[in-house]
Amino acid sequence: METATYQKTPKAVTAAKARKGHAFWSTLKKSLQVAACVDALFFVIFWAVGSPGLALINIPSILIYWTAWKLLDQRRNRLAIVLAWLEVLSHAAYGTYMVGWDGGFLYYLLIFVPLIFVSMRLRKGVALLALASLWSFYVALDLFSHHMLPAEPLSPLALSLLRLFNLSVVIAMLAFLSFSYVHVVSCAERELHKLANTDVLTGLLNRRHIAGIAESAAQRHIAQSSPLSLLLIDIDHFKSYNDRYGHQVGDEVLIQVAATLRAALREGDLIGRWGGEEFLVVLPGSDAVRGEAIGEEFRRRVSEKRFHIEGHDLGVTVTVGACELQGTETLFEAIQRADKGLYQGKASGRNRVILTELRAAMA
Ligand code: GH3
Ligand code: MG
Ligand code: MG
Repeated sequence: METATYQKTPKAVTAAKARKGHAFWSTLKKSLQVAACVDALFFVIFWAVGSPGLALINIPSILIYWTAWKLLDQRRNRLAIVLAWLEVLSHAAYGTYMVGWDGGFLYYLLIFVPLIFVSMRLRKGVALLALASLWSFYVALDLFSHHMLPAEPLSPLALSLLRLFNLSVVIAMLAFLSFSYVHVVSCAERELHKLANTDVLTGLLNRRHIAGIAESAAQRHIAQSSPLSLLLIDIDHFKSYNDRYGHQVGDEVLIQVAATLRAALREGDLIGRWGGEEFLVVLPGSDAVRGEAIGEEFRRRVSEKRFHIEGHDLGVTVTVGACELQGTETLFEAIQRADKGLYQGKASGRNRVILTELRAAMA
């Protein structure tokens, strides 16, 4: 009874993957804002303590961060990264030159270590080169600052406070960056996982997922000796909707029938798209009699509804094959049994529910 499933372009999947890819850029945008705020704070502090040289440098820094932020908006990512690099490198060098190593301006360079690998994860060679350059710059500044007197020395207390402040900001920024990145990535992964289990057209569980769920339910049914019924539901003469009104209308019929069936689902029961215009319903805790009654409810709901699609007022019916899984058979055998009922339902006029007992199926 199964028909071929149409392949749809999974736009939602592509979108979720793209979101995951953009996780880095959105995190970087946030960190540019944070960096600009830190520089604004620096401006106020250094101005207040009478260090105009260290205060004024923050004005071009904020402008650079703002420009980089705008560039990211325009998707000129590479230029934005280069600007951010230049700002941090020159700011760290300038701060170290002005107050010496103990000011802790070099700590800001450490933020680039994770950023290098996140932004260039597929280009390990380039990432290693960037890391080596960063290391060389850090070491050169370190050595330089230990052999030069600061240009604008601070008092020992102010220097200690500045170092502690810089260290705290760097740790907070690293924590913020890591948290934001992990948050965006895990949201995108959750979305991808959901999409991987969903039928793109109807929004029901897809065949792979409903089959997996049915298999686990069958295992539980055996372990707990509780009943489990299955329904195979097939839209009657579905091909005629395609032939008469076009595939768009056919798709919409599928979507609306799926929604009607889903609305009739009880808590704990599950439905998935099994094939082209076929659905599998798993009814844990329901025996054959209950399963047949639920199948009848599905059938009734669909047949009593009018489907208004692209100006057409359509009636739709479904045929249902029902069975209760027995301990002696596999899930696959039970589905085949439900399919047998479906076949009989089609042969005897459609728009009906046929329950196939195990004995009848073996006869
Ligand atoms: P029956 O009552 O015996 O089930 O007849 P039927 O026409 O419903 O069944 P048949 O197997 O002859 O045709 C099913 C058709 O469903 C064939 C295929 O073109 C169509 N189909 C399968 N998947 C899709 C889909 O995603 N969208 C649309 N529009 N049509 C689909
Ligand atoms: Mg079919
Ligand atoms: Mg059909």
